[in-house]
Amino acid sequence: NPIMQLRGVVKGFPNGTLALRGVDLDIEQGKVHGLLGANGAGKSTLIKILSGAYWATLGDIIWRGNPVKWDSPKAANDMGVATVHQHIPLVPTLSVIENIFLGNRGLWRLSAGIRREYEELCQRIGYRLDPDALVGNLSIGERQMVSIMTAVGTGADLIVMDEPTASLAAEERELVYTTVRRLSKGENKAILFVSHFLDEVMALTDQVTVLRDGTAVLRANTADLDEDR
Ligand code: ADP
Ligand code: ADP
Repeated sequence: NPIMQLRGVVKGFPNGTLALRGVDLDIEQGKVHGLLGANGAGKSTLIKILSGAYWATLGDIIWRGNPVKWDSPKAANDMGVATVHQHIPLVPTLSVIENIFLGNRGLWRLSAGIRREYEELCQRIGYRLDPDALVGNLSIGERQMVSIMTAVGTGADLIVMDEPTASLAAEERELVYTTVRRLSKGENKAILFVSHFLDEVMALTDQVTVLRDGTAVLRANTADLDEDR
């Protein structure tokens, strides 16, 4: 059953651009949902609506069966939606554990409780970094893992990932895929995985939506597409 549904979502900008022209989308718990589309198709706009950065001009956003109106990224986050951005918004002069917990908890000191929570998070994700390592000293792949850990650490049930592998090397991508599978299958998270790469969408996702010019032109179970390859 879907945790997040969009129904007839339209987004117009003040300059007259219609970035989304009535999009329906169902995102289910325990599933990885791929969102594909060329540049300008409306992917970022859709992500911003899901993550509370934009309001939809028209249409309904239904969260756990109830229509909602996010009015900020924080409100979306409080309800259980977290976003992993393509360009990783971490603070390089802070440590891994500070990046993960200080921002979203508003805590100014790292208690023993937070350190325990960090270790639990590492176990759930199946990946661990030195909590005191400075983020500025990490590789790009490690930083992306810190963003994923930050999203999971908020307790989000829907994790929106905006081209999380775009700037990563091949082996770093594999680590992200492993983590995404573990979060969906092991933790029953809903994942919206936005990508340019058809191969990774075919290999990683359970369902796929293709956007073109602000319209969902294809909605399918990935396995059904695979048969036709
Ligand atoms: P994608 O992420 O798939 O590349 P976007 O959602 O960024 O697509 O853009 C969809 C369309 O909306 C494009 O035509 C883009 O130029 C337009 N657009 C995006 N943001 C704005 C904005 N703030 N104001 C006006 N037009 C915008
Ligand atoms: P632009 O910068 O072109 O105005 P925005 O995406 O910032 O484009 O805003 C487009 C419209 O979406 C705004 O006029 C505003 O009404 C609405 N909007 C955007 N973000 C929010 C938000 N967080 N909360 C409420 N409305 C928003």
